[in-house]
Amino acid sequence: MGKIIILDENTANKIAAGEVIERPASVIKELVENSIDAGANSISVEIRNGGISLIRVIDNGSGLTEDDVEIAFERHATSKIRRADDLESINSMGFRGEALASIAAVSDVQLATRVKSSFQGVSIKVKGGNVLDVKPIGCPVGTSITVSELFFNTPARYKFLKKDSTEAGYTVDMLTRIALCYPDISFKLINNGLKVLHTPGNGDLKSTIFSVYGAAVAKQLMEVNYQDEVAKIKGFIGKAEIARSNRSHQSIYINRRYIRNKTITAAIDSAYSTFLMKNKHPFVILDIRLNPASVDVNVHPSKMEVKFSNEQEIFRAVYHAINGTLMTQSTIRTLPDSPVNKYYSNNDQGSSSYSQKPLQGASRYPSSKTSSTNSYMLNDSMASKPAYSQQEFMRVKEELDKKREEAISGHPAQGEAAYTAQEAVNLAQSEAAYTAQEDDSLVPSTSLFNGARIIGQAFSTYVFLEGDDEMFLLDQHAAHERICYEELKEAFAKDKPLSQMLISVVPIELTASEYQFAISEASFFEKLGFSYEAFGANSIIMRAVPFAQREVDVGKLFLEILDFVMDGGNGEKSVLADEALYTIACKSAIKANKRLDEREVSALLDKLSTLKNPYTCPHGRPAILRLRRYELEKLFKRIV
Ligand code: ADP
Ligand code: MG
Repeated sequence: MGKIIILDENTANKIAAGEVIERPASVIKELVENSIDAGANSISVEIRNGGISLIRVIDNGSGLTEDDVEIAFERHATSKIRRADDLESINSMGFRGEALASIAAVSDVQLATRVKSSFQGVSIKVKGGNVLDVKPIGCPVGTSITVSELFFNTPARYKFLKKDSTEAGYTVDMLTRIALCYPDISFKLINNGLKVLHTPGNGDLKSTIFSVYGAAVAKQLMEVNYQDEVAKIKGFIGKAEIARSNRSHQSIYINRRYIRNKTITAAIDSAYSTFLMKNKHPFVILDIRLNPASVDVNVHPSKMEVKFSNEQEIFRAVYHAINGTLMTQSTIRTLPDSPVNKYYSNNDQGSSSYSQKPLQGASRYPSSKTSSTNSYMLNDSMASKPAYSQQEFMRVKEELDKKREEAISGHPAQGEAAYTAQEAVNLAQSEAAYTAQEDDSLVPSTSLFNGARIIGQAFSTYVFLEGDDEMFLLDQHAAHERICYEELKEAFAKDKPLSQMLISVVPIELTASEYQFAISEASFFEKLGFSYEAFGANSIIMRAVPFAQREVDVGKLFLEILDFVMDGGNGEKSVLADEALYTIACKSAIKANKRLDEREVSALLDKLSTLKNPYTCPHGRPAILRLRRYELEKLFKRIV
């Protein structure tokens, strides 16, 4: 007898499950995707012990008919495609027909469902791949599915699970990513009885972001709305104030799937390069729609990675979508929130509900049940009260932010308060009222300083202006750097480099490959303003440079620029040129610790007023800060 046998269906499903189902979060992902495919606009997920002992997903989607219920659990059972050709035009989340079969092979599943056209629902129980029971049941339209004892019959899998809280964390992250791409669906996640995520499902991405990240983030967003032949890109990007040192606050979706992709992150970084400090990553949520034919989502089994048929096109679209948004929006910074607000919140402990007793029970998430006892909770009457004081507002905002952060990050909660959807809405309303009243942090660049007059220079570095109800503080180096950069950029675009002949030529020694590169790219460097020629073996002589400052070491600066142009594999030439231009701008700009006379300051301000983005230096440091009279009055306690 031969050695080969055909595996029975159950064994095959168990093996297949290993590929689709790795942990509770992957079960939930499959179930939630099914709910989305079923047209639900409300999806609630409940987990216990990180989803290991129980997962329950309830949706208000189409439901399954009695005829379909049993077959849905067979492998390759799908209602979403009929033949291989359909794969070309697929727009559902699933289509392999494997998820239900795989989940049921390694757990105990109970499903109850009803379609609209039927008065009665049906329930089915499947354990370890065997159908145990099918019977009629009374239930609402939609589907509710409960998965318990995950991996009860696959101990090897079970062993790989992490602690409950870690598994819960994976689910929070996964569901949050999905929720941010489906603002028209209300998602709820309950972990051990406590609500940790609740999005409004009102179709508005900004309020979805608010419900996930809180007021501090929602306040610092700019809307992206871009379209070209290649892509349609919508979403929100954050101002520098909410940039982070890792990419956890970046969510990119291609055709409504959460993905990770290096080309796209490179485009984001390039677009932000002059707006942010190095090693800071902006807050970004981008919904990118492409022709499905130009993207292959199946390169990775979990479909997180994608391949584009034309990487350059995608890079360009994302770069322009973001850069365009940054250029059209004013990004002037008000004086950092902190001095005023910290001052108040630290000194106003009377009504603060902060120091709370530790959480009871095993949960690490704040409870929604007890929140009404907390003084910070906004009730309707407070929310509608327009004169919500800044002090009150900031305290509430800080507390909610902190609690939300804890809930999302899974760090132990300090208090027992929770953040409910209603609180989110209330806070948004009071914030809107507050913003309309007192906070106009956007200053249109056309009237940059609102007619403010120069009152002096401090520490030979900062220029002070006084307006009607505000003061402006300028960092002279950062501001001038921005001016130089814009001038250089314009000259570059017009192909009229700002080149200055050197009084005496400067010889520069290069390595063989640098020399090759410098000679072959001489016309590119000429466009930047460097003019040189070959000078013996591996040397050049520099005749003209794009700046007039005497103290600059010409050789060193040229090498610096040569280096990154040579390394700059990932971008367009124009992006590389940009990098080069802002290095040059930095060297050409007025330094700090330099006395300026009034004429020089005026010239600086005049030029600054003509710029689209005068608010930061090209490296992203702020160039202008604003201090409102109101803030001074607060600081001096003239008003409270
Ligand atoms: P796939 O999603 O790849 O088609 P699944 O195994 O996930 O395969 O689901 C099998 C089928 O069961 C789906 O094609 C769909 O018709 C049905 N189904 C699963 N979940 C739901 C749900 N929540 N609501 C309605 N139908 C569902
Ligand atoms: Mg599916």
